[in-house]
This record gives sequence, C-alpha cells and structure tokens, in this order.
Amino acid sequence: MPGYEVIGDEELREVQDVFSRGGVLFRHGFDAIRNDCFKVRDFEAAFAKAMGVRHALAVTSGTAALRVGLAALEVKPGDEVITQCFTFVATVEAIIESGATPVCTQVDLSLNMDPDDLLAKISPKTKAVIVVHMLGVPANLEKISKICADKNIALIEDAAWGCGGNLNETALGAWGDIGTFSFDFAKTMTTGEGGMVLFKCDELYKKAFAWHDHGHENNPLVPRWEDTRSSSGFNYRMMELQGAIGLAQLKKLPDIVMAQRKNKAMLWEAISDLPNLKLRPMPDNSYDTADALVFLVKDNEAARRCRDELLKVGLSTKILPEAYTWHFAGTWDHMPELVAAHGGDLLAAFTPSAEILARAVSIPVGVFLREDFPSKLREAIRKAL
Ligand SMILES: *Cc1c(COP(=O)(O)O)cnc(C)c1O
Repeated sequence: MPGYEVIGDEELREVQDVFSRGGVLFRHGFDAIRNDCFKVRDFEAAFAKAMGVRHALAVTSGTAALRVGLAALEVKPGDEVITQCFTFVATVEAIIESGATPVCTQVDLSLNMDPDDLLAKISPKTKAVIVVHMLGVPANLEKISKICADKNIALIEDAAWGCGGNLNETALGAWGDIGTFSFDFAKTMTTGEGGMVLFKCDELYKKAFAWHDHGHENNPLVPRWEDTRSSSGFNYRMMELQGAIGLAQLKKLPDIVMAQRKNKAMLWEAISDLPNLKLRPMPDNSYDTADALVFLVKDNEAARRCRDELLKVGLSTKILPEAYTWHFAGTWDHMPELVAAHGGDLLAAFTPSAEILARAVSIPVGVFLREDFPSKLREAIRKAL
C-alpha cells in the first residue's frame, strides 16, 4: 500500500520542474521549448539502473506493460501464454488482448505459480509464461526460469506487485526476459496510473519501444512526422507528469519496502504464537515487498471468521478473502477465451488452488502502522481462531 502514503513535496517539486522548464508534457520532441527536460526518459534510465537491467520502457499502466511485453515477443492468435490462476484479471486480459489463448496453472501453498503444474501445461503452442509475484512475495523463479530456459519459452515476470522485492539479490522483474510493473495508485510506488517494462535484450526493447508508440522508430535522421517504421503498434506512451512523479517515488522505494518489512514483522510477531495458523512461505534468500501479511488457517470458515472479527475492531483484509473474485481465475466465467481453454468449467479446473486460497487471510501492511494495529490484530485473530 505504500507509495500513496508518502506522496508529498518531492513529487510536487518534480511536477513543478516540468512547468518551470517550459511545460512540455509529451515525452518526445518540442526540443526548442523544453529546456532539456525529459522526465519520462530520466525515469526510465533511473528505473533500469535501480533494477539492474539494460532497458526500461515507461507505459500507461501495468496492464499496458503486459500487452507491450507480449507484442515484443510477437505473440499472436494460435499461441498459448501460460500464467497462474491466482493473479489480477489484468494478466489474463493482456493475453486475450494479444489474441493468444490464456492458460492458467494452479498455485501451490506459496500462493504463487506451481512449477510442476507449469511443466504439465506447457504445450508445443506455448509461446510465453507470465509468472506473477502475488501479494509481493517472490515466485519460485529458480525453478520456473529453468523450466522456461529448458523449453526455450520466453519468461515474463508480472512484477506489478513485486516492485522493490528481490530473490538472490536480483530484483523481481529482472529475472525474466521481460519484467512488467504497475504504478497504479494502490501499488508500492505510484504515478497515479502508469507502468514499466524491463528488457535485457536490445532487440526486444527496440521492438517494444516502437510498438508502444504506433511503430515509431524515433529515427534520429528524420523528423518525427517523417519517422521510419517496420511494424504497426498502438499508443501506450507515458506522459511527462507521470515520469516526474515516478522519479520522486523511485527515490522513496527502498524506504517504503524497508518500513513495510518492519511493520509486517511486527504484525506477525503479534499473532505468530496463536494456534492453527501458518505463515505463507517465501523462497530462501528472498525479500518481499511486504505490503501484505498472509497466513493460512484451518478452513474457509476460519478465514471468514478472521475477516468478520477484523471488521469488528476496525481493521480489514486485502484480497483474501474479500477481493477473491477479482484475483482468482476459478471465478472468471466472464472470459469465454479462458473458459474454453479449461474445458468449460473454471471452478472445477482450479479446485486444488481454490482449496488453498479459501483458507488464506491477507492483512494489508503500510508504511505507517497505527499504534494499536498489532494488539487489535491479535485480539481479532485470537477470537476468530
Ligand atoms: C495491478 C496489477 C496489474 C495491473 O496494473 P494496472 O497499472 O492497474 O493496469 C497487473 N498485474 C498484477 C498482478 C497487478 O497487481
């Protein structure tokens, strides 16, 4: 939760800088009046550096980031793209929008992609895998990236929820061929709306850069209105004010995740000795973004009791159990492409995952922790269990 809690003077100063240097709000051109002010470009460079990856491309949202990543891989109708059944709808929407067939894996007790089920669902049509770091906890990238490498399948990390987390000292989003981020208002760092795509490979980056801008190659030898192109595309360009805010937020990212990790540890400390609850596991050598504390209880009834008791003391849950229908593919009967790809019955297709998710409880963690939060949390969960 996060970035919006610490929006302040730094973001305002960056935005004012855009206006005091000429007020050019477009990322390209207008060189005569912009006084060398390029906020989106600077944000991309700073983000790539912070994540330790060669290229970053700013876009309009995390959903757009996924779509642009799939376009760079030239995913098309007839291809399959595999993601996981516990994610935000956007991951599957981006696959459908690319024309490919969405296939979802089960999640295991980590609530992230089950690598064994990934292996089972790979087919000759599989063009890419989108692994998601759900609720900020790193997925099993060691196994999943090896599977993708062995099978010669591109790996996209949907790090919308993983911004600031890492595994084996490599940033989440920097493991895959492509990493995507969201800066919507609920994410760890925010530009209101916005997203970023990371690329290690120059060629993929060049394709994506053009595709997100109507195919513009930004050929330095010709003016933009005579620009060269070698593909069609779309418009997912980020604008300068978002870039300005992103520059300020990125500087705060390390402090945001440090504060959240500290607060998450305090909240867990407050309830860890209670019976019948188990902390969500994380891979060794990994750090999450810590914007949620997730634990498993005995059954769905117990999970619902947790939610009820939390509400009674003025607290709430995050995604589990309450926003389940936006995040679990077993309920997405409104997506005919997904239904068809899973034999016509989504709930039946994802029963093993549903059973795990049904007994998970997620507590929102922020940068600022109300003083009475740990004791109230304990009171509620003790009563519920
Ligand atoms: C938020 C989110 C997205 C979409 O990002 P937007 O910027 O809101 O479009 C995609 N995937 C996951 C896992 C997310 O949490």
